[in-house]
Amino acid sequence: MKSIAILGSTGSIGTQALSVIAEMSDLKVTSLACGRNIKLLEEQARKFMPAMISVEREEDAKILRENLKELPIEVLSGDEGLMAVAADPKADMVLSALVGMMGIRPTIAAIKAGKDIALANKETLVTAGHLIMPMAKEAGVKILPVDSEHSAIFQSLKGNRQALIRRILLTASGGPFRGMTEEQLANVTLEDALKNPNWSMGKKVTIDSATMINKGLEVMEAHWLFDVPVNRIQVLVHPQSILHSAVEFEDGAIIGQMGPADMRIPIHYAFTYPHRGELSGEPLDLFAVKELTFEHPDMETFYGLQLAFDAQLTGGNMPCVFNSANEAAVAAFLDKKISFTQIPELIGSAMMEIDYEDNPDLDVVLATERDTKAFVKSCIS
Ligand code: MN
Repeated sequence: MKSIAILGSTGSIGTQALSVIAEMSDLKVTSLACGRNIKLLEEQARKFMPAMISVEREEDAKILRENLKELPIEVLSGDEGLMAVAADPKADMVLSALVGMMGIRPTIAAIKAGKDIALANKETLVTAGHLIMPMAKEAGVKILPVDSEHSAIFQSLKGNRQALIRRILLTASGGPFRGMTEEQLANVTLEDALKNPNWSMGKKVTIDSATMINKGLEVMEAHWLFDVPVNRIQVLVHPQSILHSAVEFEDGAIIGQMGPADMRIPIHYAFTYPHRGELSGEPLDLFAVKELTFEHPDMETFYGLQLAFDAQLTGGNMPCVFNSANEAAVAAFLDKKISFTQIPELIGSAMMEIDYEDNPDLDVVLATERDTKAFVKSCIS
């Protein structure tokens, strides 16, 4: 029996993870943390009976304590509650599925408590990979990717020597605006951007997917997870989303992972690794797919992706500036305060403006996040 704590249980990854756990007799939930969706958290708590749950606000915790008083479930709140779930002594593994940089500190707490990490929160590695990866190594914990592309790479590497990687072939759906010109992009709306052709995801990652910035974050994530320099990571636009990524080895062999575009599959693999289990779901019909196509990404129109490569090559706190500016810009876009094309513009401005730090510790990373978000907000108002 493997016990799992979930950070971000009411989000897209969290709910899909619980649907995986519900199918598996050898997995159980020990604790759940979420933001403000207490109605769904209450349902989850009744169904999965964790020993501990946590919400963002104490006033919400009070409501849950009252509603769940007949059950042996401890209800916590705030930072303290989040950290308690992350370091839950009953958990073997922590699913880190919060959105954005708020995932960093609980993920670090989980690593220090010796938990294996199923990592869905890419912003953690993007901004603090240089701290997280050595920490995980020292603590002897595994970081298991939940992102579909990184799970595909991880599966492709199984049984192969990492030293023999020639290139990582990172696939992208291209998002809803694939093939558009700069002029066309200037007029897209929030509603257009929220329509991803292939994947069902949370709002933030759906917008990131439309700007291709999600792929930029994934380039950085792959760099940290697999210790490959970004100039050996090739992004391929693959509109069918069937090949979830691949590894090209020094002998010319390319090994990839294909399957339905269903996040439950990489979540399930992270939970069952090093084994592979059974999971329900529609099998992929390759006869219906017929063809797989690959295109170069348009890094001039979707230059947020180029900025991601630039940020990672610069290193230091620059990936953090890139990511923080994106988080602030996407939040403003979701509030309809800026246009779609202002997202990469604001990131570019922040990368010029924010002070560079060569080897940032956690405090500097978090200070860079604050400074960058404040800068982006000042540009908007
Ligand atoms: Mn992905």
